[in-house]
Amino acid sequence: MDVLRGLTTSQWAALSPAVSYFCGSLFFQTLETFKIGEQYRLVPTDEELKRNRVSRAAVIAHALVYHSITTTLALIFVDLFPPLKECQHCFGSYSYFETSIAALLGNKEHGSIQLAALSWLARLIYLGVRQFGAFFIFDTWLYWTHYFSHHNRWWFKHIHSKHHKLYVPFAYGSAYNHPAESLCFDVVASQLASGGLRLSDIEQGVFLSLATMRSCENHTAYNLPWSPFILIGGLFGYTPEWHSIHHSKWGFRTNFATYFPWWDIWMGTAYLGERKVYEAPENVPADLKGSLRASDATEERDNTSIALDNEHIEESQVRQRKKV
Ligand SMILES: [Zn+2]
Ligand SMILES: [Zn+2]
Repeated sequence: MDVLRGLTTSQWAALSPAVSYFCGSLFFQTLETFKIGEQYRLVPTDEELKRNRVSRAAVIAHALVYHSITTTLALIFVDLFPPLKECQHCFGSYSYFETSIAALLGNKEHGSIQLAALSWLARLIYLGVRQFGAFFIFDTWLYWTHYFSHHNRWWFKHIHSKHHKLYVPFAYGSAYNHPAESLCFDVVASQLASGGLRLSDIEQGVFLSLATMRSCENHTAYNLPWSPFILIGGLFGYTPEWHSIHHSKWGFRTNFATYFPWWDIWMGTAYLGERKVYEAPENVPADLKGSLRASDATEERDNTSIALDNEHIEESQVRQRKKV
């Protein structure tokens, strides 16, 4: 415990993805184990067992190795390049807003509760806008790299198909990625977002924790109405169902974004049809049955069969299923 107490804020920020991943996974696994909120579950567990091409034990083992390596590297990184310390009187600090608002009010309110409340409100809005900006940069990078992953045959077959071994994902499956993808996509995206906006160490910790927990939630197949993480993107229509559709066979070429629906909508890759998961064979729409047979016909449960799923879902089929 003394070791934990001795950590700096920057070191806590470096630890935050691993800690929030563990907390988020534990929370959703508890719901699943004790069958809490079953009415909000998107996909029956039987389907998960039938479709998924990797065991939960293998995913946990991968996550342990992944977080051990990335956390060690992050701790070394913050030691070499410490994140910015927040400036006490710079633009955006509490004292900056206090001085500005007091000047605006003609200094009459100095020291009052009203001034303190207004200053904190301004500061919260400022910090919220910065978090939103970081998420938007993060989501933009992830959208385009994810889009590339599905349209470059080599990359999909050898790299991204690893994540798509989870046809029906679960919370801790969010970290089940090829190492090359984790590095080129996730690490670069988080550095672009936090470096681009020059987030302080505390802001970085909050941003990385929220991003990790939201990613866990995206993979839960739970669409909880009271989740606090749904505030990131959920208000704009991005729910865990959005990413669950991307993991289903027929949804591989849609819903590439991770936090907001906008890039998918702007680029015409959003699945805007009936928001329902069709994994059960009897629920597969007639126009998609042919495409599902492509990989079902192969007995292989490897990257090739997953790549077949990716290639066989033609863009035209995606478009057919959109509501105009
Ligand atoms: Zn994908
Ligand atoms: Zn995923």
